[in-house]
Amino acid sequence: MAQRLQGKTVLITGASSGIGRSVALEFARTAPTDLRLVLTARRADRLREVAAQIRDEVGDGVRVLPVELDVSDPVQVRGLVAALPEEFRGVDVLVNNAGLVKGVARAPEIAEEDVSVMFQTNVTGLINMTQAILPIFKARPDGGAGDIINIGSIAGREPYAGGSIYCASKAAVRAFTDALRKELIDTRIRVMEVDPGQVETEFSVVRFYGDKSKADAVYAGCEPLTPEDIAEVVVFVAGRRQNVVVADTLIFPSHQA
Ligand code: NDP
Repeated sequence: MAQRLQGKTVLITGASSGIGRSVALEFARTAPTDLRLVLTARRADRLREVAAQIRDEVGDGVRVLPVELDVSDPVQVRGLVAALPEEFRGVDVLVNNAGLVKGVARAPEIAEEDVSVMFQTNVTGLINMTQAILPIFKARPDGGAGDIINIGSIAGREPYAGGSIYCASKAAVRAFTDALRKELIDTRIRVMEVDPGQVETEFSVVRFYGDKSKADAVYAGCEPLTPEDIAEVVVFVAGRRQNVVVADTLIFPSHQA
């Protein structure tokens, strides 16, 4: 697998924490001698910490470019892709991971701005990134080549009360992923989705608007997945032979079955 990933350029959104951060580390550990990583998120300081950790662990064989980016802003997204330094321009793998949930409330009570931020990030942001990167993929021979790995959620398959907007946003990711895969059937562009169940990250802190005690209570009495559990799957699907499409993966902790 390491051999197949060597020489690749991987762009990850939401790489400043949780699953995205672990995906960056897992790619670096798996292909430590010749890999380029473009790490994006809004918190540039956190991206620099991830870049430093990668350098400490694997040295300079992995070239890392941290870039501050809000995926919900199409102008920023297009600007990032247009301004990529030569060394990082040939993106091979896009991991659309940036996403969030805001609040736990029945549909009539959900704040308008929370509805907006969930859809703007989880759906529009993912579409912005995909539209910006696809021309790079399509410029390659035989109709194009590259990997798009979208991080969906078990919530997109099994909606729950109190999470209607988040669930709807992840169901939209699922529909977009499936349709795009069909549109690109005549190319070597793989469109894949990894759907986590409960994973312990800053996700719950964001959901409860920064209230750590409420966030921690979510994990009481159960054993959630770690971000590394998801990262291993993401790197696995990217590392398959080009002809193998691991289209759709659902991964959850045993208590959630
Ligand atoms: P985290 O909160 O730890 O990470 C979310 C990441 O998304 C952060 O790096 C954050 O960076 C980034 N992000 C949020 N909004 C934006 C934005 N507008 N532009 C760019 N980046 C943004 O949570 P997770 O790691 O758990 O979440 C990662 C993905 O996994 C999400 O898509 C989430 O829906 C999905 N998921 C998580 C589950 C869980 O239980 N944790 C379960 C199922 C799916 P920054 O704030 O620096 O911009």
